[in-house]
Amino acid sequence: MAAALVAAAAAFPAMAQEKPFDYHVDRFADIEVLRYKVPDFENLTLNQKLLVYYLTEAAINGRDILWDQNGELNLQLRPVLETIYVNYKGDRNAADFKNFETYLKQVWFGNGIHHHYSTDKFVPKFPRAFFEEQFKANNLGDEAKMNLLAEAIFNPTLYAKRVNQADGQDLIRTSANNLYDNTVTQKEVEDYYAALKDTTDLTPISYGLNARVAKVDGKVVEQRYKLGGLYSDAIAKIMENLLRAREYAENPAQKDIIDKLVEFYGSGDLKTFDDYSIAWAEDTKSKVDFINGFIESYGDPLGMTGSWESIVNFRNDKASHRTEIISSNAQWFEDHSPIDPRFRKEKVKGVSAKVITAAILAGDSYPSTPIGINLPNANWIRAAHGSKSVTIENITEAYDAAAHGNGFNEEFVIDKPTAKLLDEYLFITDNLHTDLHECLGHGSGKLLPGVDPDALKEHGSTLEEARADLFALYYLADPKLIELGLLDNPDAYKSEYYKYMLNGLMTQLMRIEPGKDIEEAHMRNRQLIAAWALEHGKKDKVVELVKKNGKTFVKINDYKALRNLFGELLREVQRIRSTGDYEAGRRLVLDYGVKVDPKLHKEVLKRYSHLNIAPYKGFVNPVYTPVRDAEGNITDIRVTYTEDYPAQMLRYSRDYSPLTK
Ligand code: ZN
Repeated sequence: MAAALVAAAAAFPAMAQEKPFDYHVDRFADIEVLRYKVPDFENLTLNQKLLVYYLTEAAINGRDILWDQNGELNLQLRPVLETIYVNYKGDRNAADFKNFETYLKQVWFGNGIHHHYSTDKFVPKFPRAFFEEQFKANNLGDEAKMNLLAEAIFNPTLYAKRVNQADGQDLIRTSANNLYDNTVTQKEVEDYYAALKDTTDLTPISYGLNARVAKVDGKVVEQRYKLGGLYSDAIAKIMENLLRAREYAENPAQKDIIDKLVEFYGSGDLKTFDDYSIAWAEDTKSKVDFINGFIESYGDPLGMTGSWESIVNFRNDKASHRTEIISSNAQWFEDHSPIDPRFRKEKVKGVSAKVITAAILAGDSYPSTPIGINLPNANWIRAAHGSKSVTIENITEAYDAAAHGNGFNEEFVIDKPTAKLLDEYLFITDNLHTDLHECLGHGSGKLLPGVDPDALKEHGSTLEEARADLFALYYLADPKLIELGLLDNPDAYKSEYYKYMLNGLMTQLMRIEPGKDIEEAHMRNRQLIAAWALEHGKKDKVVELVKKNGKTFVKINDYKALRNLFGELLREVQRIRSTGDYEAGRRLVLDYGVKVDPKLHKEVLKRYSHLNIAPYKGFVNPVYTPVRDAEGNITDIRVTYTEDYPAQMLRYSRDYSPLTK
């Protein structure tokens, strides 16, 4: 008793000084920037802290790669904008400068001149004359460079969209990303890879993952991202820091993973990348973990080239208990899935799942970041060696904390009992949805022999997300979750069902500009599921859109029937994927996932505007600073959370820009 009192007294002065953690960092355009905590970092061993530290250095050093992948002029433009921003001598509260500042904040957030989510080019609200004046005043280059950059900023038809998915167009020529050069066509790229691909190869490499495709002397060629190739200077920095991190690896397996990744960056050989991915997938022991490389292919309209990204993290042991329960029951879920038994996996292998704490977000995961990850992406590796699935709980916590009291539920949720259910159960069911989506959803089911994994082409990403979401939705309502102790109330799932239908039918539209279609794969997937369930439950009034005081609300009359509809759609989407039924997949996406009801859209935008909630959120990173003794040895790594958004961006540009020096 006495000892506890002493401890409490000793802790008190420190507690008294501590300010409440402020999640809100910046707000501009359609963006809110938040910060996240890294709980328990201080409880890592010094070795683990050093490992994390050097991995974060390897992460931040890759930033320029993504900027260049996103657009050929981004790395020329960024230092120009930043110089003007820092040096501006006029009134920093005047409209032109304020609008310029907003534009720069948007460009930072998009890692280039396009919106991170819609991939539309940003529309600047400051005049071209302001830019040209400042360009000259700061001696930022010759007339030709000024015009080139001014066109990139102000000409709406140039580089209009980073990733174009419009049906029937040349998706490469009409996409402004820099994953392909300006001369190569979609047909040429498809022919090039079709000729390379051996369809009988059961362990194919991820074609095109680490290359820009260009036409040189009339021939289609790959320009590899590797040491001595494209992005060499950034890759050298990444390798250097990976090798420093290697000295503090937790075990030989982790050393080996780092070695293989370094080897891959050195050679650019995708076979080595597969070796690395296998070793990485099989390491479920290490507490500290990371991804670092060319991973997700959403930035490529053909879904091949990986955008550079990195997330460094460590396991949240307490919360991981939840995902361990799910993954240790993976076979039960697979066996009871409502899909055709022909498409079930007889043996679900190595589904490993954990809850992690992100220590740094970088590249394509920064400032906007996913809340769950499931890797590696190669299907055959997942089947033979398993995959790692994570939920990033310090990020979901930050979202949840920052959203409290923002007025959303009062405006959009149909009645008080539903709002109460959301308050009580949405945090846990949202996390469970992510766990189920990532741990089991993506890993479930199988292709029939001989079916091309890319058969669904431009609709593959949307349908894959739909499959994983439907799997999660279907099982959230299963009594099995209560039996496993993951939920304590048989009605808890209704909170996620309500939110999902509300989001898919209405509130996600706040992210779409009036008159535009839905483009992004995850959004298409959500509307596809919600709109399909609405239509197919129509005659039984399972779900309705009703009017109250002139406003539209989602009303769910029969949650059990809604669950059955999710199961039915899961069965169909799995059939499409397992058999490679492109036409049926295309119809589903185009009929339900793309078009927007303009009247409802307008209403949602109007109701949203009153709330002043940013449609998109992202994060600044914490700052890690080595603490050194008199001899210069690192004795600790200190983490601080005080850096603001422009300061962080400018510091990264100053200290971590191997490609703009
Ligand atoms: Zn997913």
